[in-house]
Amino acid sequence: MTRNMPRKTITTPLQKVLAKIRPVWITRAGQELARGMEVRADFEEQLARFFDLLDQSITTGDPAWMDSILLDWAKSSTETELEEEPYQVSFLINRLIALTIQVSRETLTKQQALDLLAAVVPIYTYGLEVVARYEMETRVAHISSEMEKVQRQMARVDKSKSAFISVAAHELKTPITLIEGYASMMEDLMQQGKSTNLVSLLAGMNTGIDRLRGIVEDMIDVSMIDNDLLQLNFQPMQVAQMLEALYLEVEPILGVRKLTLSLKEFEGNKQWIYIDAGRIMQAVRNVINNAIKYTPDGGTITIDGRKLSGFIEVTISDTGIGISTEDQSAIFEKFGQLGRVDLHSSGKTKFKGGGPGLGLPIARGILDAHGGTIWVESPGYDEIRNPGSTFHILIPDRTESPDPKMTKLFDTLGKNKNEEMVE
Ligand code: ADP
Repeated sequence: MTRNMPRKTITTPLQKVLAKIRPVWITRAGQELARGMEVRADFEEQLARFFDLLDQSITTGDPAWMDSILLDWAKSSTETELEEEPYQVSFLINRLIALTIQVSRETLTKQQALDLLAAVVPIYTYGLEVVARYEMETRVAHISSEMEKVQRQMARVDKSKSAFISVAAHELKTPITLIEGYASMMEDLMQQGKSTNLVSLLAGMNTGIDRLRGIVEDMIDVSMIDNDLLQLNFQPMQVAQMLEALYLEVEPILGVRKLTLSLKEFEGNKQWIYIDAGRIMQAVRNVINNAIKYTPDGGTITIDGRKLSGFIEVTISDTGIGISTEDQSAIFEKFGQLGRVDLHSSGKTKFKGGGPGLGLPIARGILDAHGGTIWVESPGYDEIRNPGSTFHILIPDRTESPDPKMTKLFDTLGKNKNEEMVE
């Protein structure tokens, strides 16, 4: 309830008493309750408003005059200096009651003090009720909004889990069907006593098996990352070596897809750092494969980097379909973005070839385990304009193995670390 303050005229004896304690009450309350000097002036203004409304409530016998300031205080209590007390405004009112009693004792006659307290205490009590109700309502609203959030998250997880199962089943079925096809062709040939084409059929079967193994391994990796079971085997390695090896891996596909991959030299790429090279390569491979997969034929992928304090940054940019702002963090979440099941049917490097949607969560898990990180920048998703994406990977530039046994092993093998580590 909000009320306009009528012009004040001092008439009743109680009002005279109130006027007498007003300045002392405001100064004392300001000194005792305002945290820093810079807020005291503001706070004293608030106290003056409180006191005047108290006066008004007593004069009219209507405590609802206090509502506006009580609710203002209760609402702002989460944003102000009063924040740390759990029941800030109730606490403040209790302090004001004590202060009113104290100031009345010091400034007024016994009778005046008794009269004043008889009038003031019910209003303070009313104030405590208003604030307690507000605080309770706010807390209930907060709890229910938190519960709604959890429910929404659970619904999302549920939905994405079943989406994951359907994508995973689809992904697993594709190579199985392939293997079955080759197996039955081989069976036919063998029944007919023919041995032609057997080698190429076997090669086809092996491709299917490799694909199957890859998917199963991704699933195992995700569950290891989820359960903090990823064990890193730190060894000295140069980022340049790793990137060159990955370049050679994907080179044949680049030709097929008419893509250009430009691998730049950058500061720090030849520095020897301790990493689990196999795992870091797996993370970078996943990002490069995605760059290939989500860039239309004829596009360009650029691998560059730089040295930062404590890290070597590798950037992988493509001229592909890009990623919408909303999806830029979701794609690193397991089950976050799985794409359409119907797209998840072809090879890992075919345009939009799909996969079970675990590549980036695995990359992030590996980098997290190293103390590094990964993120993406993209102007957005557009399959016509192809705005592209840039993945940033930060690899910590450790010059010592975090595993002391490894360092010792290197030392006892007589390798001069300094010679080895600096090129
Ligand atoms: P997937 O197996 O689906 O490729 P990832 O975890 O590797 O799984 O990637 C998750 C999703 O992120 C992809 O489905 C795709 O939508 C998006 N994505 C990843 N990299 C790129 C990229 N370079 N350009 C556009 N979209 C990408």
